[in-house]
Amino acid sequence: MTTPHTRDSWESLANGLKIRTQAFIDGNYVNAASGKTFDCISPIDGRSLGRVSECEAEDIERAVIASRRSFDSGAWSEAAPRHRKKVLLKFAGLIEQHGDELALLESLDMGKPVSDARAVDVAATIRCMAWTGEALDKVYGEVAPTGPGELGLVTREPLGVIGAIVPWNFPLLMAAWKLAPALAMGNSVVLKPSEKSPLSVIRLAEIAIEAGIPAGVFNVVPGYGKGAGEPLALHMDVDGLVFTGSTAVGKHLLQCAGRSNLKRAYMECGGKSPNIVFADARDLGKAAEAAASGIFYNQGEVCTAASRLLVERSIKDEFVARVVEAGRDMHPRHPLEPSAPMGAMVDETQTTRVLDYIEKGVAEGANLVLGGKRANVVQGGCYIEPTVFDDVAHEHTISREEIFGPVLSVIAFDSEEQALRMANDTEYGLAAGLWTSDISRAHRVARKLRAGSVWVNYWDGGDMTAPFGGYKQSGNGRDKSLHAFDKYTEMKATWINLEG
Ligand code: NAD
Repeated sequence: MTTPHTRDSWESLANGLKIRTQAFIDGNYVNAASGKTFDCISPIDGRSLGRVSECEAEDIERAVIASRRSFDSGAWSEAAPRHRKKVLLKFAGLIEQHGDELALLESLDMGKPVSDARAVDVAATIRCMAWTGEALDKVYGEVAPTGPGELGLVTREPLGVIGAIVPWNFPLLMAAWKLAPALAMGNSVVLKPSEKSPLSVIRLAEIAIEAGIPAGVFNVVPGYGKGAGEPLALHMDVDGLVFTGSTAVGKHLLQCAGRSNLKRAYMECGGKSPNIVFADARDLGKAAEAAASGIFYNQGEVCTAASRLLVERSIKDEFVARVVEAGRDMHPRHPLEPSAPMGAMVDETQTTRVLDYIEKGVAEGANLVLGGKRANVVQGGCYIEPTVFDDVAHEHTISREEIFGPVLSVIAFDSEEQALRMANDTEYGLAAGLWTSDISRAHRVARKLRAGSVWVNYWDGGDMTAPFGGYKQSGNGRDKSLHAFDKYTEMKATWINLEG
């Protein structure tokens, strides 16, 4: 049993932290070929955490060559499933062992509360790696239902070299959702973390080697979208491209796949998720708390943030009062404070973007009932108050566009049909929730919601056992569960003539 951390113990761990900042290619930390670096600024207080190697086309080339070589060698791609399982389980164990360090890197780099990083990001990364490791040697092929003269085998083979491009809001976990199934199926991976949050994944690469993943199988190339992401997406020797990030970049990457070698391409993109509260919900107090944490958790920088709260008009005022009360308790604090409910926004750019949306909400006539300002938590840091807008019209910008910040739009509805119409009237379809005590309504509404995940009487449920992904412009393909393996395998039909 370990002693729970205090602010002081996190601070002292942070002071002794050795931060890796180089690219990881073919089993070694290396500088970018150009020697270029970029500054990695902590949004907690604006201090530099170090200068990170800025990879560009030449580095992508090196990483793809290493990846291809490792794949062709068969050291990983042809290893027995039970061997890959053993290694992934060891990998999960080592992530646990280095859990505090990884959580701290995550918090310092992108501003989330370190307690959340430890209890959610790191814990879920471990579960992802372990679940996938456990699953990989239970995947069977098929025998086709043929006549007596032939045998038809349906088998799965690894794609080869996977390019993975991931965002900054859950840097380690989003990487794990790609990395675990890709490695499980025998692929080699070149992973580009976000330029805003590269540190945890740079460190993870070294841990992978310690776990027994051969050199060249997992490479990390920090850099910018244009400089490093684009050459990876356009590379002619990358077989699969997997992405989590904004819809705009996802659309662009699909074009890159089409313009190059028709690499398999799967995009997990943005959302503007509706959370529908009916007047017959069993526990409105619980629903209000979930509505608040659904938008303020991780500073609202969550693809499934419950950013649109649709409330039945008869209970709307009372419900909003409860949400405001719960939101007030979530005011940001120093991210190394163990009880911080919210931390810092990822950077100045995102902070300004969110504040601009708040201004637009006011200008378009929504009723600001909580927050709305920059919060002064730490000098030089990026903090925004939990913000609630009541009386938002479905047509308002803040109700249509993904803000990716702690800003809630409350919209009243008068009927189930109207709630569903507004919920589905969005370009996105990542997640949706509803609160009701009527079981028929729960099933009826869940069935009609056009979203990849639907939660009934809670928000953000789920684990590794079910697929995660979007309808419409929230993306294609699915992360998590056995379905994730589809993205990382080709399916082969082998026909054998039995008639001699
Ligand atoms: P982003 O699209 O700006 O960046 C994501 C990644 O793409 C980064 O690594 C970035 O460097 C890279 N990139 C940017 N431009 C590129 C280009 N031209 N070519 C190649 N790569 C490029 O997204 P973000 O701001 O990092 O993350 C926030 C977005 O991610 C939100 O829209 C959020 O909803 C989405 N998200 C989705 C999920 C999901 O599972 N659906 C999960 C988390 C986040």
